[in-house]
Amino acid sequence: MAPLTTIGVGGPARYFVEARTVAEISEAVNFSRSRELPLFVLGGGSNLVISDDGWPGLVLRIGISGIEENIRRDQASFDVGAGEEWDKFVARAVARKCAGIECLSGIPGSVGGTPVQNVGAYGQEVAETITAVLAFDLRDNQVRELCNEACGFSYRSSIFNTSERGRFIILRVTYALRPGGEPHIAYADLKKYFAGWKEKPPLAETRDAVRKIRASKGMLISPGDDDSRSAGSFFKNPILSPEQYQELSRKAAVKNLQIPSYPALDALKKVSAAWLVEHSGFSKGFSHGRVGISRKHALAIVNRGEATAADIVAFKEQIQQRVEDIWGIRLEPEPVFVGF
Ligand SMILES: Cc1cc2nc3c(=O)[nH]c(=O)nc-3n(C[C@H](O)[C@H](O)[C@H](O)COP(=O)(O)OP(=O)(O)OC[C@H]3O[C@@H](n4cnc5c(N)ncnc54)[C@H](O)[C@@H]3O)c2cc1C
Repeated sequence: MAPLTTIGVGGPARYFVEARTVAEISEAVNFSRSRELPLFVLGGGSNLVISDDGWPGLVLRIGISGIEENIRRDQASFDVGAGEEWDKFVARAVARKCAGIECLSGIPGSVGGTPVQNVGAYGQEVAETITAVLAFDLRDNQVRELCNEACGFSYRSSIFNTSERGRFIILRVTYALRPGGEPHIAYADLKKYFAGWKEKPPLAETRDAVRKIRASKGMLISPGDDDSRSAGSFFKNPILSPEQYQELSRKAAVKNLQIPSYPALDALKKVSAAWLVEHSGFSKGFSHGRVGISRKHALAIVNRGEATAADIVAFKEQIQQRVEDIWGIRLEPEPVFVGF
């Protein structure tokens, strides 16, 4: 499975199939049921750590394609197959001058993967634009349409990775975008990039800027950039209670440090996981055998070549332990662990 993931680890799948239609998905589901094989649904493999033992059942890759657009004067709707590459869809929406997902440019993976962890970056998340998710319900083999509220979106979370994990196979996702809308320039990096501009930049420039900023942080998959051999951010930004936040600030003050303040994080009482990792002795470029921390971003664990899943898990645990010992906060990983 390693070549099917961005971090490049994972043993073999006992069975593997790519399904391009609902009928093929249904057939694959019946196959796994009749043989009592566990089923794993694979998208673009960009948010996964697959075990070195691989997957003992059927890996079902979703290959449903097609982008149907309905653009009117004040509202645009895009109905996109789960197997489409996310960034290809963003490029299309931006080319059609439809706003709402431009800050999510350059995120790897499939369209079907985006509702799962409510993908977000630079002040946007897909929960703001998804109007419906069409899904195959493994409980009764029916195809259902879930409205936005039914998806239970919150920070890096939805019913698909929490309460209803493993129940739905996402087939298509519908996004409502704003034709002729302005880009969302809210994050410091983007504001800095466009500092000299008197007017809001066009969507196309915003997309370019996001991709450039991402590339400078190793968060754009680019051939030749070793630092992008990752699963993106490895830890979620912890959400703290006021008491926990106070305690953290106190510990920082003892070390003559100040918790960095970002308006977007403060609003949710989130604290930067990258800061915690860096201030626990794991600076950018830190190496630990065949794994390490990206040279460009403290939150990405990188496969430096030939790493195993065991190497990555051991390193992840070392970071979690050190952060907990120093700061009293347990970091929660963002990627999905498969076959452990
Ligand atoms: C360099 C890099 C940068 C990244 N930057 C960001 C970022 O800025 N913001 C962000 O939120 N994420 C980011 N990520 C994480 C990742 O790209 C997203 O989470 C992405 O949406 C995962 O989609 P995928 O298709 O690759 O899913 P996979 O990794 O294949 O799967 C992830 C989970 O989704 C499930 N899944 C996938 N497709 C379906 C489907 N059709 N139906 C049901 N379940 C499904 C899988 O079973 C699994 O549980 C980054 C990753 C990398 C490598």
